[in-house]
Amino acid sequence: MTRNARTHMMVLPGDGIGPEVIRQAERVLEWFATHRGLDVELQHGDFGVGAYYRSGRILQDELLADILAADLVLFGAMGGGADHRAIPQEIRLREGLPGVRKSMQVYANIRPVKPFRTLAAASPIRAEVTEGVDMLVIRELIGGIYFGEPRGIETLPDGTRRGVNTHVYTTPEIQRIGRVAFDLARSRRRHVTSVDKANVMVAGALWRSEIDALQAQHYPDIALDHMYVDNCAMQIVRAPRQFDVLVTDNLFGDILSDCASTISGSLGMLPSASLSDPGPDRRRKGLYEPAHGSAPDIAGQDKANPLAAILSVAMALEMGCERPDDARLLERAVEAALGHKRTADIAEPGVEVVSTTGMGDAVLGELDRLRDAGV
Ligand code: NAD
Repeated sequence: MTRNARTHMMVLPGDGIGPEVIRQAERVLEWFATHRGLDVELQHGDFGVGAYYRSGRILQDELLADILAADLVLFGAMGGGADHRAIPQEIRLREGLPGVRKSMQVYANIRPVKPFRTLAAASPIRAEVTEGVDMLVIRELIGGIYFGEPRGIETLPDGTRRGVNTHVYTTPEIQRIGRVAFDLARSRRRHVTSVDKANVMVAGALWRSEIDALQAQHYPDIALDHMYVDNCAMQIVRAPRQFDVLVTDNLFGDILSDCASTISGSLGMLPSASLSDPGPDRRRKGLYEPAHGSAPDIAGQDKANPLAAILSVAMALEMGCERPDDARLLERAVEAALGHKRTADIAEPGVEVVSTTGMGDAVLGELDRLRDAGV
């Protein structure tokens, strides 16, 4: 896709705080359409637990077809509460978010962790530890233990039960996510840390040897080191500046990226992009979403932080629409808004606490100010 082409964007607000944060993300998209010539056509889809109770399906077949035809997808969050657990697990797996990611073949989940300086005091980690952190967490998204077969719960002859999941990776799956990490490292500080549990898991040992082979054959210019996941969790909170690009499997990436979100101050600050391989038209399918879930504890109260969703728009502008200048402009506006407005999750003494909508207003106000200043 070139920067002037029309972008067909599927918007899936989802459940819980999803619709609240996505509304603010859409206001930002509308601003770029009005003021910066972004040619975007938005189509909305009803997806998630709410959709299941409205229509009997989490994801209708026609909606999946529209998702697969779209240039990119902006998604809020899915799930939450007893309603969710009442849906049979096989339907949740097939029609829920894992199924959408698998259908789109978006295997590379990219989560940048680069805290805003204005938020240093909002992180539970000391400012001298988080200052200057600039890392990418790359998580393999459609393989590993979340998808491996066999899986299930069986009742044994003695009446007790046995639950099974299978952690499985193949050479092509490891090498394609490795390539994403090494390629991104080439445009950064040329350092990849691959995270596994190779000392006790055989699939982890395969992961390590395939990443080693890939680096030796195609990326000798990139420094590579390996880290066990338990040590990595500790290093992320102890000395996060050591990381440039961190690549890991589905389960470990799920956990480590939430852990890394503490550096940014809140889960409500962490955007993500999930990308497929390029198709015949050289485009990668992209699913852009905040890293957080549906936050049922605060849903419907207009107090969720919309910035992870808004920063996911910045990632979509850069990676899906080839508009890096617009992405930088939006990040500047977010940083400026944080100087005088905060949602409750990142509140700080002396800075006004605002609602979800109020934070959207603050970002739009800063975009107007930057435009008026000729930026
Ligand atoms: P969660 O991310 O929804 O919430 C964890 C904590 O962070 C909660 O205290 C919540 O209030 C807070 N939080 C999250 N986002 C916030 C925001 N934008 N602003 C302020 N505070 C925020 O995780 P959970 O509670 O473990 O899961 C709730 C539901 O979400 C579950 O059904 C889970 O399956 C689902 N989930 C969905 C996704 C997704 O759709 N991508 C991701 C994770 C969890």
